[in-house]
Amino acid sequence: MSLPRYDHFINGASVPPASGDYFDTENPYTGEVWAHIARGNAADVDAAVAAAKAAFEGPWGGLTATRRGQLLRRLADLVIEHAPRLAEIEQRDNGKLSSEVVAQVRYMGEYFHYYAGLADKVESKVIPTDKPGVFTFTRYEAKGVVAIITPWNSPLTLTSWKLAPALAAGCVAVVKPSEFTSASMLEFAALFEQAGFPPGVVNVVTGFGAEVGEPLVTHPDVAHIGFTGGELAGKRIYEAAARNLKTVTLELGGKSPNIIFDDADLDQAVKGVVSGIFAASGQSCQAGSRVLVQESIHDELIRRLVEFVGTAKLGDPTRPDTQIGPIATRPQFEKVLDYIRIAREEGARCVLGGKARPDLGAGQFVEPTIFTGVDNRMRIAQEEVFGPVLCIIPFKDEADAIRIGNDILYGLAGAVWTRSLHRALYVTERLKAGTVWVNNYRATSFTTPFGGYKRSGIGRESGSDAIHEYLDTKSVWISTDLDVPNPFIRR
Ligand code: NAD
Repeated sequence: MSLPRYDHFINGASVPPASGDYFDTENPYTGEVWAHIARGNAADVDAAVAAAKAAFEGPWGGLTATRRGQLLRRLADLVIEHAPRLAEIEQRDNGKLSSEVVAQVRYMGEYFHYYAGLADKVESKVIPTDKPGVFTFTRYEAKGVVAIITPWNSPLTLTSWKLAPALAAGCVAVVKPSEFTSASMLEFAALFEQAGFPPGVVNVVTGFGAEVGEPLVTHPDVAHIGFTGGELAGKRIYEAAARNLKTVTLELGGKSPNIIFDDADLDQAVKGVVSGIFAASGQSCQAGSRVLVQESIHDELIRRLVEFVGTAKLGDPTRPDTQIGPIATRPQFEKVLDYIRIAREEGARCVLGGKARPDLGAGQFVEPTIFTGVDNRMRIAQEEVFGPVLCIIPFKDEADAIRIGNDILYGLAGAVWTRSLHRALYVTERLKAGTVWVNNYRATSFTTPFGGYKRSGIGRESGSDAIHEYLDTKSVWISTDLDVPNPFIRR
């Protein structure tokens, strides 16, 4: 039986790659190749950017913000209707639990609804300027062609975080999904046509970072880059953008502290630790991969955690009772095992897991792993693993927790578990992170800004401000004075 073949999506149509080449995409649970994906290059990027630019200067650019909102609303409904199908395709590529992916894709529809509503509510300002005889106001104008580059862990969600505000702002887009998870984006792109978007508003070019990502980022007609991914690629994109003075939104990695005080509800905190690091097999930028625990409850927390996580069910991610699925890609699987080896060499003590599970699926599984005896200066505490590996670090008091929490290059997220309101606010104010949860972990919403301090990124996604990542501000000065003042002197 021949496998499905996915082409690029350019100007509202499926377009075969200029090179004629395709690459395989695999199911990480079964290890089977299930589809072939177009291998893009600079010629495909040129065609996609040209289509986007034509849409921006043509039919799309001529629409009112209200009309854009109507189209986004229709798209949102289609996303919700097609969520189970899109989720199944996405799940086949990245091995996440079906139960989580379906809910995630359905929730994407809410992002489009939110930004549909926002499209015609971006109001400019009349400015009471100090200069006499002028009327001054601002206009917010769409930046133009936006490049959207995403990773494999939550492909459609992370694309929507960028695409929904970009389209609401009036931009057009060329999306490059991860080479490991391209199919769901191509299926999603087809819905834009059904929703009634003019061709060229959203284009998808699939392929590799060096062959598609780089030509896209450096393309002279691309104005802004919205990127989620690793630090290495993020830096390369930022450097390329700087050479051409383009703007960027970068959502990068994290090593977030999940801080548990001795006055916390320990049962709830244990659940928060588990959802922070073992949900999605730890393949989440916001993973609570460092648990900082107050010394007096250190041993009790470990006892409860080991007991709770020790029964977690690993296996087929499409089964509703599975709790931990495979690692999404072979290189990531090897990286996680490498970090487990490094942690042992550094002297951390493995109290749970620590091994691959070759007996499950195609063998791309890592047991949920807990290390104690971790010093915050160890590599296992400082570097992002992006897998089900937890470090537990004891602390004495609030000052110690804040010091260890912030002693890291990253600043994406963090959490505080306590029953004291004062302590919750005190620590929240002092943690250098873009999101801090109190007595919960991992909640995000279209209503609420998300992004990183320090090396975790630049700019914010979600919430009403995020639309400004895709807008330029123009100030307009209109003379109301018929008399032209002395032209040799600046007013
Ligand atoms: P990655 O950085 O390797 O790849 C991400 C995307 O960038 C892919 O589409 C890839 O093809 C592309 N790319 C790679 N090099 C490029 C280049 N030079 N120019 C342009 N594009 C290039 O990341 P990944 O392995 O797919 O995903 C895992 C990483 O993503 C983790 O480090 C994780 O922390 C991060 N992440 C961050 C967030 C967040 O919101 N902060 C969310 C999810 C994942």
